Amino acid sequence: MQEKTHLKSLDWNELQDFTKQAGQKAFRSKQLYQWMHKQLVCSFDEMTNLSKDFREALKKDCILCSAKTVKQQISSDGTNKFLMELSDGNHIESVLMKYKHGNSVCISTQAGCRMGCRFCASTVGGLIRSLQPSELLDQVYEIQRITGERVSNVILMGIGEPLDNYENVMKFIRMLSDEHGLNISQRNITLSTCGLVKQMERLAEEALTITLAVSLHAPNDIIRREMMPVANQYPIQEIMESCRNYIRKTNRRVTFEYSMVEGKNDSPKEAGELSSLLKGMNCHVNLIPLNPVEGRLGQRSKRNHIEVFKKILEKNHINVTIRREMGRDIDAACGQLRNKQREAANGRII
Ligand code: SAH
Repeated sequence: MQEKTHLKSLDWNELQDFTKQAGQKAFRSKQLYQWMHKQLVCSFDEMTNLSKDFREALKKDCILCSAKTVKQQISSDGTNKFLMELSDGNHIESVLMKYKHGNSVCISTQAGCRMGCRFCASTVGGLIRSLQPSELLDQVYEIQRITGERVSNVILMGIGEPLDNYENVMKFIRMLSDEHGLNISQRNITLSTCGLVKQMERLAEEALTITLAVSLHAPNDIIRREMMPVANQYPIQEIMESCRNYIRKTNRRVTFEYSMVEGKNDSPKEAGELSSLLKGMNCHVNLIPLNPVEGRLGQRSKRNHIEVFKKILEKNHINVTIRREMGRDIDAACGQLRNKQREAANGRII
C-alpha cells in the first residue's frame, strides 16, 4: 500500500503542484491551503467549496490532521497540557501557557530524543522518530482549535531536539510564519537546542528572526559533561562562538537556559564562572528550577540558592530571570505524561 501524503507538510508552492497533478484548477490550491492553515478544519467534508470528487480523492490518499488529542490536563494556574497521538500511534506532548501578553504553545519536535540529558524525562527510551512539518503544525492548530484561543507565541521546547530534525523544523517555522497561514511572527518563535554547533551555524545562515535558546546548564565542560552527553561532542567555547555568530548575523539576543540542580551547578562559584563566560554578550539567562524526574539525575536547587545565583549574575550586569513555574501539578516536565502513557501501554501503572 502506498503511504498517505501528509497534506499539511506541503508548503504553498508544493501544494500548487499537488493540486495541478490532481487535475484541479490553480485556485483550488489556495482554497485548500486556507482550509488547512487558516480555518484549521479537521475534516475534508468541511471544505465545502471543493468538489465532492476532489474531497473523496483527498480522503483516500492524504492525512489531514496528524496529531489528535487523547488526553488533556488543566492545571490550577490555567496551563493546559495535551497528550497527542500521531497517525502511527506514537505519542507526544504539547503545552499551552497563558500569559498576560498572549498564549504560548510549547511543542514537541520528535517522538523521543537521542540526546540523553541525564535529568530529562523525554530521552528515556531514546529516539523513535522525528516529526513531519504537518505534525509540528498540527500541535499548534489542534490547541488553537480545542481552546478557541489564538496562539501568539510558539516555543520548540517540548520532547525532542529541534536541530536533530533540521529540515522539517525549518519548513515548519516558515509555514507557521507564512502570511497564507497563521502568520505568527518569527520574533514570537523560540527554538531551544542542547547546543548542536554544526546545525547552529547553519541556522545562522537561514535569515530567520526567531529567538535562539541554548540549554547551557553549566559554566564549564566538566559539569556540563556530567549532565549532558552532547557536551562531549561540542565544548562550551564552540557553543559560545556559535552564539556570537548567531547574534552577529541576526541581531537577535540569545537566551541561555540553566536548569538548577542542587549541589551540581548552583553554587556562587558557578554563578561567577557563568558571569565571566557571558560577560558583554547580548543575552538573557533563564534559570529553571529543576523538575525532578523519578529515576533521573538530581534534585531541585533550594530557592535561596537560586536567588543568590541570580544576584551574582545581576551584579555582573547579566540579564536574568527565574522561570515562573507553571503546571507543576500536571507533570509539566516534558516527557512525563508521555512516559506514563508508555508505562500504561506496557501494563505498568498509569
Ligand atoms: N532539546 C532541546 C529542547 C527540549 S528541552 C534542548 O535541549 O534545549 C527544553 C528545556 O528543558 C531544555 O533546556 C532542557 O534541558 C530542560 N529540561 C529538560 N528536563 C528538565 C527537567 N526535568 N527540569 C528542568 N528543566 C528540564
